Amino acid sequence: MDKETFCKAQPAAARILKQMLSGNRMAHAVLFWGPRGVPSSEAAELVTQALVCRNPDPDGFGCGKCLECRNAAEHRGIGVYWNSRLQKKNAAELQEQFSLTSEGSRVCVLENFDEATPQAANALLKFIEEPQPGITVILTAGERSAVLPTIESRCLCIQLRPMPEKDRAKALTQLPEDLRQAAASAGYGPEDFPEPDEFLERIMPAVKHYITLWDVPDGLLFLQLEVFPARAAQTTRSMVRLFFEALQWQVRQSELEAETKAMVFDALIQGVEAVKRTADPSLAIDQMASRIRKGINHDRT
Ligand SMILES: [Zn+2]
Repeated sequence: MDKETFCKAQPAAARILKQMLSGNRMAHAVLFWGPRGVPSSEAAELVTQALVCRNPDPDGFGCGKCLECRNAAEHRGIGVYWNSRLQKKNAAELQEQFSLTSEGSRVCVLENFDEATPQAANALLKFIEEPQPGITVILTAGERSAVLPTIESRCLCIQLRPMPEKDRAKALTQLPEDLRQAAASAGYGPEDFPEPDEFLERIMPAVKHYITLWDVPDGLLFLQLEVFPARAAQTTRSMVRLFFEALQWQVRQSELEAETKAMVFDALIQGVEAVKRTADPSLAIDQMASRIRKGINHDRT
């Protein structure tokens, strides 16, 4: 996203950035936050470019053309550390990288910081609280309140506005049509799906098949063996959450009884909460499936 597009879509955030960048009053830590679908990644790119650019414009934004700007747009370059799924081991790795050089502006971008494990966030407390000169930390989060208060209080917090739902649905061109509507209504944007993924292709068929089995143990087995076969390691929070959203969408469209729908929605709400808390997101799937199975069998007796 270029500067003009960003400023048009996010006027309030753009005003703060302009003040900060043009006045050379860069905060040492910035938190971009807003619901799914907001251009927080793009905002982080713009600030990174502004900080590393050789030839910034009068507003202090990067030129977008020099090598440093182009590297920043690809989340790399000298002095740039970029991570969108922070784990504890990365915290040590990034501190080591920044200890190697002290020249020039250095930028550390940690996306989805509210989804980092508590261990990872804690490992970075000191790094963020006691800034080294020349290092700017940029965090992004869906929810400001989900960031550790000690970290949030050190950041300049900039809120981003979500794109209208119809524009989001239009922009989610890489998703299969039925999933696109489910994802847009849940607030997902194109940046949530950086690459077409075979998981995205099979998620709606999996949801539909799961509904036919959800009252028997095979339902959970299907999820464990076919949909999320790799445990913790490869099952991400966003995959699990997307599955919950897709299931919710499908149930809403269905002709199930109102009580069944309410029971499923309740299980999904608890599931979303569990995804935030647990270190192993696939556990949240197991819990949801067992709640739904119990709920449906209870209704029948
Ligand atoms: Zn530049």
